[in-house]
Amino acid sequence: MSASGCTADSSPRRQQELSAPSVELAAPADSPVDKARLLRIDVYGADAKDAAGARVVLLFEGAPLFKQKQLPAEGMLPPRIAIELQDVEWDASVPVSQAVERGGLQRVRLATPNPRVVLDLYPTATGRVFFLTDPYRVVVDISAARPSKKNRRPLVVLDPGHGGQEPGAANDQYGLVESQLALELAELAAARLRAIMPRLRVMLTRSSDVDLSLEERCALANAMEADVFVSIHLNASSEQVRKGGVTTFVLDTTNNRQALRLAARENGTRVAEVTGIQSLLAKHHRKNQADGSLTLAGKIQRHTLKRGRTVHPKLSDRGVRRAMFYVLVGARMPSVLLEASFLTYDPEARALTKHRYRRALADGVASGIASYLLTR
Ligand SMILES: [Zn+2]
Repeated sequence: MSASGCTADSSPRRQQELSAPSVELAAPADSPVDKARLLRIDVYGADAKDAAGARVVLLFEGAPLFKQKQLPAEGMLPPRIAIELQDVEWDASVPVSQAVERGGLQRVRLATPNPRVVLDLYPTATGRVFFLTDPYRVVVDISAARPSKKNRRPLVVLDPGHGGQEPGAANDQYGLVESQLALELAELAAARLRAIMPRLRVMLTRSSDVDLSLEERCALANAMEADVFVSIHLNASSEQVRKGGVTTFVLDTTNNRQALRLAARENGTRVAEVTGIQSLLAKHHRKNQADGSLTLAGKIQRHTLKRGRTVHPKLSDRGVRRAMFYVLVGARMPSVLLEASFLTYDPEARALTKHRYRRALADGVASGIASYLLTR
């Protein structure tokens, strides 16, 4: 994964002031006393053609204390989001200014002597700021807020979990690797979707075995104004699994221990970090989007089970559940995470070695998505 190589493509936009109020955010109370260090500023999503948004991620070593301010246009200055950092040092390698000029974002710059990261926006753009831990990140989601998307072809973004340095779960006995299976399921589901809904556009967040950060996956879906975002995974458990099964997750601030453990594994974090940020993230999750996610999850769960059972009749229904998956945080469209089967449950692992079973699961995902799109 690397910061997007942003190319210039500026276009004039309507003048409009930012309406979002200033919000203060603080790092968790247990932050270390040592100065935090700004290591990197990455921009995601903006290199997509006609990007409708962008995501800026400030990566820190140590927990930063910061305030965010949303500033309207004044004189020569465009509307801005300023992240004011307190007691933060920064690496010399952090560029003082990066031109972006897409996705609602003109430029990201580091202002001194009081360290501030300033995002210069285009006039119609708005932004949301949130904070993630392990590693410490301040994430700013920019929405270019372009006019109506009437008559555009609906877009589905499928996200094969893991990849590159992160293979995810595995079953050595059958030579199964989650990242590879997830990619194959996503490719099969995409092909199926294109066949049954020719007007639909389908995109994959990755089409090969590459590293892709959780931020980048969701940023891409936001930037492309996707209608649906589905992250595809295979489940695993360190404990003995007695029945395996299919589970579809929607984002939530749950306290369910098992769900937290799974979320921690998928997020690459520890359980404690997942619980610590729940309340902060909860308020960024919009009600109507949450409802859409639940409906989508129900359809994907039902169809995946039904198709999967044509090959493996004993496939269990673990239901639709809620958990704190980082990959779903900040998504602006109905978004779910599917755990299609268990790699650590022998009957399902054995089934996964068969192309027929993988195809059945992928067809189920596709018909679940199609059913959602046709009835929404
Ligand atoms: Zn996974």
